[in-house]
Order: sequence, then C-alpha cells, then structure tokens
Amino acid sequence: MHKGFILWFTGLSGAGKSTISQRLAEIFRQRGYKVELLDGDEVRTHLSKGLGFSKEDRDTNIRRIGYVARLLARNGVIAITAAISPYREIRDEVRAHIQEEGAAFVEVFANASLDALVERDVKGLYKKALAGEIANFTGVSDPYEPPLQPEIEVRTDRETVEESTQRILNYLSERGLIG
Ligand code: ADP
Repeated sequence: MHKGFILWFTGLSGAGKSTISQRLAEIFRQRGYKVELLDGDEVRTHLSKGLGFSKEDRDTNIRRIGYVARLLARNGVIAITAAISPYREIRDEVRAHIQEEGAAFVEVFANASLDALVERDVKGLYKKALAGEIANFTGVSDPYEPPLQPEIEVRTDRETVEESTQRILNYLSERGLIG
C-alpha cells in the first residue's frame, strides 16, 4: 500500500497540465497505484458546473478541487489535479490544509512562454482571447500568479512530454512518494 498524496498542476491554458497528468495517471495505474485525475475542464462540467471566471468563482472552483483531492489522498489515492489555479493564495491555502493532515502536496508548475502557447494554441482559445472575444482569459486578460517555490517546474516549451513526465517521476521517487 502506498500513501496518498496530491500532485497539483498549475499553469496557463495549453501549458501541458492535462497531457502530462494523463500520462502520469496511466503510468501509476500500470504500476498498480490507485490514482484519480481531477481535470479542470471536466470539473467545470460537473463539480463546478455554473461557476464562471470571476476571481470569486475561480477561488470556489479551486477550493472544491482541493477538498476532493484531500479526501482522495486521505484514502491512499494519488490525486492529480490539472486546473489553471491562477491564484497563489488559494493554492497555498489548499497546500496548508493538506499538509495539516500529514499528506504531501507536490506543486508542479507547467511553464511555457506566452509566445509558445499562442503559437501552439491547442484549443484555439488564445486567438480568440487576443482578439478580445473571451473576457477574463488567464494570461491575456486575467491574472496568473506563478508559484514562487513549486516542488517541480517543467518547461513544456523546451521539453518533450516524456521528458517532463520523467522529471516528475524522478522527483516523486527521490521524495519516497513512489517506489
Ligand atoms: P493544459 O491542460 O495545460 O491546458 P494541454 O495538455 O491540453 O494543456 O495541451 C498541451 C499541448 O502541448 C499538447 O498538445 C501537448 O502535446 C503539447 N506539448 C508539447 N510539449 C509538451 C510537454 N513537455 N509537456 C506537455 N505538453 C506538451
């Protein structure tokens, strides 16, 4: 039996949170670990349906994700979250709650330059946001506060998905969180 912990991704849209977290979830499952993935886009269609993109709604969304992740980690599950989570204060609040319970909170900063993200534009959203068609778009017309001391930073504009994934796995095994 392994201990539950939280792997918390943060970063702009298109930075690679979903891609890397899905890859990790697959690897953990293959190794027989219990794992759940709370993906930001999916959470917004279920758990946080009806919430918008004001600061208040974003904070509520992140607190909910943090709460569910905490329940999972408490029960021995590796909880991976992949939401933009733009505000440092709320991420740190979630971190404090988790750590109070003795579980590890591993913050992964998926970082890529805005230029690279605009170029990549996986979901076609940057084009719209830059044209002023999407209000409150993180990184363009809404704030993003990068973590000051993330446990891990992956530079997804310079690394392949496999490299980023491997660096995270290495960190987790050095910390003794996975075997
Ligand atoms: P997010 O979940 O942060 O919005 P996505 O995972 O949906 O981002 O999109 C990231 C895109 O960047 C994918 O098309 C992915 O293939 C590509 N990509 C290139 N390099 C990397 C990397 N090192 N890590 C993650 N994604 C990468």
